[in-house]
Amino acid sequence: MQNKEFDILVVGAGIIGTSVAAELSRRGAKVGVIDKGTVGRGCSYGNAGWMTPCFSMPLPMPGMFLKSMKWLANPNSPLHIKPSLSLDLAAWLFHFMKAMNETQARRAVEGLVVLSQKSVDEYRKLGEKYPKTRFEQKGLLMVSRTKEGVAAAVEELEYVRGVGVTGKQMTGEEIMAFEPAFRPPMLGGVYFDQEAMGEPFQVVQAMADETRKHGGEIIENCELIDLEMSGGKVTKALTSQGEIKFKEIVIATGSWSKSLAKMLQLRIPILGGKGYAMIVPKLEKQPKYPIMFIEKKIAITPRENSLRIAGTLELVDQDFSITQRRVDNIKKGASELLYLPEQLQVEELWAGLRPCTPDGVPLIGYHNKISNMMLAVGHQMLGLQSGAGTGLLVADLIDKKKPFVDLEIFAPNRF
Ligand SMILES: Cc1cc2nc3c(=O)[nH]c(=O)nc-3n(C[C@H](O)[C@H](O)[C@H](O)COP(=O)(O)OP(=O)(O)OC[C@H]3O[C@@H](n4cnc5c(N)ncnc54)[C@H](O)[C@@H]3O)c2cc1C
Repeated sequence: MQNKEFDILVVGAGIIGTSVAAELSRRGAKVGVIDKGTVGRGCSYGNAGWMTPCFSMPLPMPGMFLKSMKWLANPNSPLHIKPSLSLDLAAWLFHFMKAMNETQARRAVEGLVVLSQKSVDEYRKLGEKYPKTRFEQKGLLMVSRTKEGVAAAVEELEYVRGVGVTGKQMTGEEIMAFEPAFRPPMLGGVYFDQEAMGEPFQVVQAMADETRKHGGEIIENCELIDLEMSGGKVTKALTSQGEIKFKEIVIATGSWSKSLAKMLQLRIPILGGKGYAMIVPKLEKQPKYPIMFIEKKIAITPRENSLRIAGTLELVDQDFSITQRRVDNIKKGASELLYLPEQLQVEELWAGLRPCTPDGVPLIGYHNKISNMMLAVGHQMLGLQSGAGTGLLVADLIDKKKPFVDLEIFAPNRF
């Protein structure tokens, strides 16, 4: 690569980086995107494909203290924090505990719902242009076979209803009539009627296509190695393929952001929330709706000729290894709910690291220490559902437009 120059350089071509690049390119900026791998092969590759504003609750909700202690102790729980002596984990847990308060949770949910609803609108438009994204808005079922699970689903509905998410509580019988693919017994749950889904990898490819169509350039296998600073600004990126100059830079490096923070001596406490997804052949009794099995935290997404089953969140630091026990737990949980064949054939098994901030809210905006650098990282469990909205928000900030959501909750220098 010859040395390059752009108005805006975006680092990272996952759903966040490509959404930012697509929007800035549409607005006429000369945009370059670099990725150390290829487009959409990070955490955005194999996620459940949900675009679901109802899942805007941050991980550290009030009253979670005891639960999180259990996660530390139990390696089989759907959410697990691997105990370790690392200072990074200790700092992360400190901020996690601090964020478990009602005021913080309400503000987070409000901001994340706005970002997610904007995103759903954008994905609908994208789906009209790029049918391969398979955008569908038929709602989502959150179901349970236990009293506690049903109570948690209803609590979630009550929480997000106040900020414009719609849904209705259903009895077990109503759910069985609505979605006959379930194995009885079913106790109850909630149907969120406005939720959408799509093919996550295809959505990223569509955003990348939009970027190129509007004059942007995407450079793959190009790793950001260092940044040159002068007078409180970043002036140049040193990459594995040469130097790149720019006026502004947007960092969208997902769960890899911590090493970048070290490079710039900034505090960006992001750990990876490892999760697995497997593709299995279409079932004889294939569900029609995306399903959240609440007590097992398993996400099931029907696809045209297959089914995606995803789950678990294990807090790790750049560890992509696959733990068979956790994969088996996902299969077992899904087979309690659906008629899976005894010998389940797994067509694809994938692990991804959700970029998790301790307060469950992404970092979006200019960093107060570097005036031409914007962060768009830490989208944890909701990077797809809030990705397109993040693209609009970042573009508005670069264009000096009034942001459509209160920025304070997303402040990149809050830790
Ligand atoms: C099992 C599972 C299910 C999920 N389901 C959903 C869901 O249904 N809905 C939802 O909204 N979210 C879901 N998520 C979360 C979602 O996948 C993430 O929030 C999202 O993909 C994060 O996107 P990103 O662009 O920030 O990161 P990534 O997609 O990881 O992209 C970051 C990119 O930065 C690049 N990069 C890193 N460092 C450098 C460097 N130094 N130089 C150049 N490039 C670099 C990487 O190569 C990568 O391509 C799920 C996650 C998992 C694991």
